Amino acid sequence: MPVKPHRCPRCGTEGRKIHDYRIQKIRHFKWFERPTVLFYRKRRYACQTCGKRFAEENPFA
Ligand SMILES: [Zn+2]
Repeated sequence: MPVKPHRCPRCGTEGRKIHDYRIQKIRHFKWFERPTVLFYRKRRYACQTCGKRFAEENPFA
């Protein structure tokens, strides 16, 4: 996933300061197929203006 500026949901400031990463397990169950678990490194941003921490947009959701 490329780092891209994200808009703070609280104050609207755009920033690209990365707070941390979280490994998120995403389960996919498909009929007649084996269950698949995707490991997705979720990037979290921290707003430099108000300090709000928020996750990047999830492309799998
Ligand atoms: Zn903010």
